[in-house]
Amino acid sequence: MLQEYDLTQLIQPLCGWFLQNARKLPWRDDPTPYHVWVSEIMLQQTRVEAVKNYYTRFIKALPDISALAQCEEDVYLKLWEGLGYYSRVRNLHAAAVQVMEEYDGRIPDDYGTLLKLKGIGSYTAGAIASLAYEKPEPAVDGNVLRVLARVSADDTDIMNPSFRKETEQRLRALLQYCCERTGSNEKNNGQEAGSFSPRVFNQALMELGALVCVPNGAPNCEICPWKDLCRARKMELTDRIPVRTKKKERRKEEKTILLIRDGDKIALHKRPAKGLLAGLYEFPNKEGHLSESQVISLVRSMGYSPLRIKRLTDSVHIFSHVEWHMIAYSVLVEEEAFATKEQKQRAAMEELVFADAKEQKEHYALPSAFAAYRKDI
Ligand code: SF4
Repeated sequence: MLQEYDLTQLIQPLCGWFLQNARKLPWRDDPTPYHVWVSEIMLQQTRVEAVKNYYTRFIKALPDISALAQCEEDVYLKLWEGLGYYSRVRNLHAAAVQVMEEYDGRIPDDYGTLLKLKGIGSYTAGAIASLAYEKPEPAVDGNVLRVLARVSADDTDIMNPSFRKETEQRLRALLQYCCERTGSNEKNNGQEAGSFSPRVFNQALMELGALVCVPNGAPNCEICPWKDLCRARKMELTDRIPVRTKKKERRKEEKTILLIRDGDKIALHKRPAKGLLAGLYEFPNKEGHLSESQVISLVRSMGYSPLRIKRLTDSVHIFSHVEWHMIAYSVLVEEEAFATKEQKQRAAMEELVFADAKEQKEHYALPSAFAAYRKDI
């Protein structure tokens, strides 16, 4: 069990292994609080390889907290386009405004204060405090829970909040003990010979979970720095630990996507300010799978005159809690020719914008849920 496992024995092999094997990642070159924050938010629910280019582009466009705080919604959503979980960037922006207004533009170094910022939970607060400021704070995510459950052969459900709490407490005590014992802490930035660095330790723990004690498939115990200390390996329990409650099944939703064309332009619609994919652009769509004739009537009711209709390929997009099962139609409409005043009013009520491929690419953030139809613009 984790409770009675001696964690101090893990430090040296882990940190030594990390210094030899750490990946070179763009956010590790210059771990300022802003860089750590942006990268950690991007890395939530997203693979490292997918984040690299987004991170570089985001930091180039918005190099500091002040630039982020002043950024327009459409611009930061565009920079996030395709990364998913867009509430992350909304919260990032809201918190940047908060830092400018309440903390004079300086990202706090205190764990408790960091928790008051929008979108920052215990993991991100710990990551900023330790990676950017060398504070003895833990950064516990799924990787950390898994590797510690395995090394101590703890069969508690790692999704249980009490296991997370206990892991955080044990790691915090360990980090504080190490910093006090070596006399090293944030004051020397972990650079002194023989000093203990919370940054190195926390990154090493995450790296071990990402590269060696992996979440999917068998762990690579033969190359693990803890192979002689790991109880799950000795007891041959690596296929049973960690124990994790099953996630709820995702809800399935049927949708009909409309690519309404007017010349070389296509209709886009801004999603509501709240809820899934809030504030992003989408192709107009309706619940359910509609037939060709239903789509023609629908497009007419929107105030447009359909000239030609074509069924496109079906696609599925999976979010964390819901799946969209989409069918789609390309509908060519008569160029700005509203037969009646009423038709024109109805079209205006739909609040569609018509953009060509270049305009869409440059200005309108279209989530990857619609990626299958982007090529049809
Ligand atoms: S020895 Fe194997 S199971 Fe144990 S921590 Fe290392 S990789 Fe994970």
